[in-house]
Amino acid sequence: NDVPLDYPVNPDEEDWSKLYPTYFRPHNAACDTTKRPLSPSASNEAGADETLAKRGPAASSSSSTANDKVPAQVEFADIGCGYGGLLVALAPLYPNTLMVGMEIRTKLVDYLQRRIEALRGFQHDLLANKSGSVEWVDVRSKLSLEIAALDQPKAEGEEELHDNGETHRLVPGHYENIAAMRINCQKYLPNFFKKGQLSKMFILFADPHFKRRKHKARIISATMLAEYAYVMRTGGIIYMITDVKDLYDWSVSHLDAFPLFERIPDEELKSDPAIPCVVNSTEEGKKVARNKGSKYLACYRRIEDPAEN
Ligand code: SAM
Repeated sequence: NDVPLDYPVNPDEEDWSKLYPTYFRPHNAACDTTKRPLSPSASNEAGADETLAKRGPAASSSSSTANDKVPAQVEFADIGCGYGGLLVALAPLYPNTLMVGMEIRTKLVDYLQRRIEALRGFQHDLLANKSGSVEWVDVRSKLSLEIAALDQPKAEGEEELHDNGETHRLVPGHYENIAAMRINCQKYLPNFFKKGQLSKMFILFADPHFKRRKHKARIISATMLAEYAYVMRTGGIIYMITDVKDLYDWSVSHLDAFPLFERIPDEELKSDPAIPCVVNSTEEGKKVARNKGSKYLACYRRIEDPAEN
């Protein structure tokens, strides 16, 4: 991870077209530097999730609802996304929403970018042939070979890459809305996102950093919550899950103490379509399930800031 981090001075300086070429024009485009009007719903307030969920994964092969007025922008962020299982699962579930996986480790970002490229290439072939959904085991094994060829030290969880026993369903037309970027989330979030931009943030199976002197590296802390509250819109949701009870207690105590987040009752979560993905779709979450570990989930809503009224 010695590769220097590249970050924009402010969110408008980021060239999002590199991550979502279907949705943005490059900053240096010859005669038009504006974003394309091919926009996802940038207005996904809490209620919009339901609408999208009703349409379901197989609802449409078109990932865009053309809307000339609303510029595209990222709405979901997966903090410490690892190998990207969450994004791949969410992409067809929220086909009109742009989501980004943020990860500090170069090797994982490279892997996820190639995984997404492969999914996009595969879906283009499929769409050209007008076929329906297909199994994509081949794509995954191809990626694992590429990673193996990198000849780098084995990363934590890398054995996951060779786990080709599973069969995934590819839903054509739904992978243009996900991307991965390398970032230290503890440092540069407001450089990428405007105030109130995000409607969902995922902190799934974060590194526990057990030792007290390492606690400052934890992804949830009073300082970090202030940044999360800044980039999240009122009504937005933070999803947190871990298999480490100590980290769960730590996270819940910090979130409970933070004035701009309130706990969502478990009962309410039952109807949230993102929850099954949060619990089951990440590589780390699958590993925990295989090892028959416990999973502790807590979700919090960003509430209105009384100081802003
Ligand atoms: N969320 C994924 C999952 O559930 O499979 C990955 C979990 S893994 C235990 C934690 C990930 O967070 C690692 O890939 C690590 O590199 C990443 N990470 C830790 N600190 C980070 C930071 N400050 N910024 C970005 N990523 C970070």
